[in-house]
Order: sequence, then C-alpha cells, then structure tokens
Amino acid sequence: MRLVLLGPPGAGKGTQALRLAARYRMPHIATGDLLRFAVTWGTDVGLRAKQYMDAGELVPDQVVFELLRRRLEQDDVAGNGYVLDGFPRNRAQAEQLDKLLAEMGQSLDRAIAFDVPPEVIVRRLSGRSSCPTCGRPYNDTTSRPRVPGACDVDGTALAHRDDDHPDVIRRRLRVFEQQTGAILSYYQEQGILVHVVGTGRLEEVAARLVAAVEGAA
Ligand code: AMP
Repeated sequence: MRLVLLGPPGAGKGTQALRLAARYRMPHIATGDLLRFAVTWGTDVGLRAKQYMDAGELVPDQVVFELLRRRLEQDDVAGNGYVLDGFPRNRAQAEQLDKLLAEMGQSLDRAIAFDVPPEVIVRRLSGRSSCPTCGRPYNDTTSRPRVPGACDVDGTALAHRDDDHPDVIRRRLRVFEQQTGAILSYYQEQGILVHVVGTGRLEEVAARLVAAVEGAA
C-alpha cells in the first residue's frame, strides 16, 4: 500500500503517519525529517535546505526530490509500500512522484487530505514538541507527556522545532494555501483523494484514517 498524507503543517500528519506505519508495518517517510537529518548532519543538501526551512519556505523541488528518490530506492520500502508525509507539496512534486513511480512500475493507492481549520493549527503548532532522541511527537492539547517536558519513552528533555514560531508558522500556512492546495485537485482527478476530518481526539482521527485507507476510494 502506498499512501500520501496531505494537509497543512500541524494537521496531525506526522503523528497519524506513525500510527499507520505501525499498524500496516510499513515505513513512514517524511521529507521534513529527511531534510532535518540532512541539516543536522551538515550534508550538502542540508546546507542548501536550511535557509528555506528557517524561513518557512519550500526547499527547491529538485533538492527534496533527490532525497526522496534515494529513500524510495531503499530495500525496506519495496515490500509493503509506505506512508509518505510532507511530499508532494505542490503540483510539480506530485507529477515528479508519479513519474518516478511509473518508472518503478508502481502507483499510489490513496492520497489522504487532513481537514483542520487554521485556528486549530496555530494552537497545535505553538504547543508541539518532540523527543530529540526517539522522535516521538507530543502536543500540549492532544498528547501531553506524563512528566511535563520529558519523553515518556526515554526521559529526554523535549525540544521545539526551530520553525514552530508564530511568524514562521504563519508563513508556512500561507505557503500551504498557495501551493499545496492545488495538488488536492490533482489527486481528485485521479480518483484516489479521500478527506479525513483532522480535529478531535487522536484515536478518533486514527479511526477515521483507517476507514479512509480501507474504504473504497
Ligand atoms: P515538515 O516537517 O513537513 O513541516 O517540513 C518542514 C520544512 O521542510 C518545510 O517548511 C519546508 O521548508 C521543508 N520541506 C519538507 N517537505 C518538503 C517538500 N516536499 N518540498 C519542499 N520543502 C519541504
């Protein structure tokens, strides 16, 4: 099964993608994570990407696509498919992905759009954090850690992302509205788009998502 999750930053894609990946035993591939690793490791791609990420802008398509292409060619991806999170972000990326999949003799099964109102998004993004050691995401409203500021799994002090500051958040939301909205119609035309209401408790959203994945497109 090959899925893409679409929606504004803070829509809950990452959290739900992790659950889907565990449920169906397939890798969760997030281009934001791939880019953050590249920045942390100081690779050429990381050095090129950082300025865009800090400003809340999209990293150039070709840079992200190369990173993704290399990831999709790894062995763990071939067997069970994957959950793609954060890619595509615009129509050109959607077309690039389709072309690559066609070359591999594959296609996407579902594109799932998370519908969440802007005011909920700003609240969620301002309150989110994650564990720098194991990557587990937390949120002040929906998934608080048992001990404030510490990871439930390994006790590491939780960190906020550099781009989760109000002015960068607003910029990222504008970028989403301008560019990413257009790909919904792309997948609508292909007949693989399903919408999921992304508000409410984590388990409720997860159940809607499973219904969307397993139901007829
Ligand atoms: P995310 O973790 O998905 O919110 O992504 C964080 C940042 O990484 C974004 O604000 C962009 O700067 C960059 N990024 C992630 N995925 C993409 C993509 N598919 N295309 C361009 N930039 C991306």
